Formats: sequence, structure tokens, C-alpha cells
Amino acid sequence: MHNFDKNTINPIQNRKVYLVGGGIASLASAAYFIRDGHINPENITLYEELNIAGGSLDSSGSPKDGYIMRGGRMLNFSYLCTYDLFSFIPSLTNPAISVLDEINAFNKKIKSHSLARVVEDGHKIIVSSMGFSNKDRLDLIEIMAINENYLGTKQINDWFSSDFFKTNFWLMWSTMFAFQEWHSAVEFKRYLHRFIHEFKRINTLAGVDRTPYNQFD
Ligand SMILES: Cc1cc2nc3c(=O)[nH]c(=O)nc-3n(C[C@H](O)[C@H](O)[C@H](O)COP(=O)(O)OP(=O)(O)OC[C@H]3O[C@@H](n4cnc5c(N)ncnc54)[C@H](O)[C@@H]3O)c2cc1C
Repeated sequence: MHNFDKNTINPIQNRKVYLVGGGIASLASAAYFIRDGHINPENITLYEELNIAGGSLDSSGSPKDGYIMRGGRMLNFSYLCTYDLFSFIPSLTNPAISVLDEINAFNKKIKSHSLARVVEDGHKIIVSSMGFSNKDRLDLIEIMAINENYLGTKQINDWFSSDFFKTNFWLMWSTMFAFQEWHSAVEFKRYLHRFIHEFKRINTLAGVDRTPYNQFD
């Protein structure tokens, strides 16, 4: 047991927190510092090197000039940590409920269910089958089971045959998570572990949770 000298400990109201980056990781840290660390919110500073806030969740624009953002935003019931964070952030429109309550109510009412998951040249592509060969299936099982150290710096296209990249699965998975064939095989493996439960409904995106806000907001 440590014997702290009370005079040498910085009282909690004076403690300062400095976070590097203006993305959701820093915002989440700040929220937990306030809730669990009892840090005074005014003593938390976020440093952001860009002139736009939000990190990878950034977006810019105006009604006049139009909006630019890097991608659409998808949530999933398996986001235990994110949903824990949202559970104690008050909603902007109704501070009596949490952001999580608001998201849950919205998704109960508005269900994702795409009837045209992939469209090419104005035509709907039927993606009810993943289009796997048996070799693709074995390669997928193996990459899920294998140790990351073995994969090392391998690329996705070092692991799979060229036919794999012509499957409906690759079209849906790569566009959903912004994968390129030359991206890291380890990263691809981690996403498989993270989202394999969505395989059964990837063709309709029924597992995607949304917020009541539009993509810019
Ligand atoms: C196009 C796209 C679509 C996505 N879609 C989804 C999705 O649908 N669902 C989902 O769950 N996730 C999605 N993601 C992933 C998700 O957006 C990111 O995982 C998450 O936003 C990362 O947050 P972060 O705070 O860890 O890092 P970042 O958002 O990258 O924030 C880090 C910030 O730190 C700043 N920074 C770095 N170094 C310094 C420094 N030395 N000094 C000051 N500032 C610094 C950077 O400029 C940046 O703003 C998507 C990502 C992208 C790019």
C-alpha cells in the first residue's frame, strides 16, 4: 500500500489532460476522463493539426457549395465500446435521452434493407451468392485461423487467387470497408474476425445501424 503525501498530489480539479488528434478516439477519451476520471472539462485540451475537426469522421461544405466527406458511416450492434460511449452522451435534440437511445429508436423504425446492393452501369447486380469457389472458402478459413506473425507484411493479393477478387463477396466487402487488393492481409484478417457475423446479410446491409442524422451532420 502506498502512502501518498496529500500535499504532493495534484488536486483533481487542477489536473490537466492533453490529447493529440481531433478524432473520435480523443473525444471518447475526453468523455471517459470527465465521467470516470472526474476531470474538469475545461482542463481537457485536444490538439488537431488539420484545420477541420473530426479526424476520419470529418466532412466539409455548405448547402451552397455542396458537401464533401470521405465515406458513409455505418454502425453495428457489435460496437460494444462505441455504444457504451453513446449511452452516456445526451442527445442534441432531446438531452433527456442518450445518443444510444436515439440511435436504437431510429433503427427500430428505419431498417436497413437494400434491394439494390450493387449497381453497375445503371443495372442491379444480383449478389444473393458470394460467388466463392471451394479454394476461396479454404483460403478464407485459413487466413482466419493463421497467426498474424505468419502473415507479416503480406498483401491481400499475396494470399488469394486472382479469381477471388472477381467474386461478389470481394465487391461488397471491399466497397463496404474501403479495401484495395494491395492492402495488408493482417488488416483484412482483422476485419473478417470483426465482421464475419455480417456475412449472412451482407447482400442487403440489414446489419448496418444508422443514426437519425444525415451523413454530413
Ligand atoms: C472513408 C472512411 C469510411 C469509414 N467508415 C466507417 C464506418 O462506416 N463505420 C466505422 O465504424 N468506421 C468507419 N471508418 C473508420 C472510422 O472513421 C475510424 O476508425 C475512426 O474515425 C478513427 O478515429 P481516431 O480518432 O482513432 O483517428 P482519426 O480519426 O484518424 O483521428 C486522428 C486525428 O489526429 C490528427 N493528428 C495525427 N497526428 C497529429 C499530431 N501529431 N498533432 C495533431 N494532430 C494529429 C489527425 O489529423 C486526425 O484528425 C471509416 C473511415 C474512413 C476513412
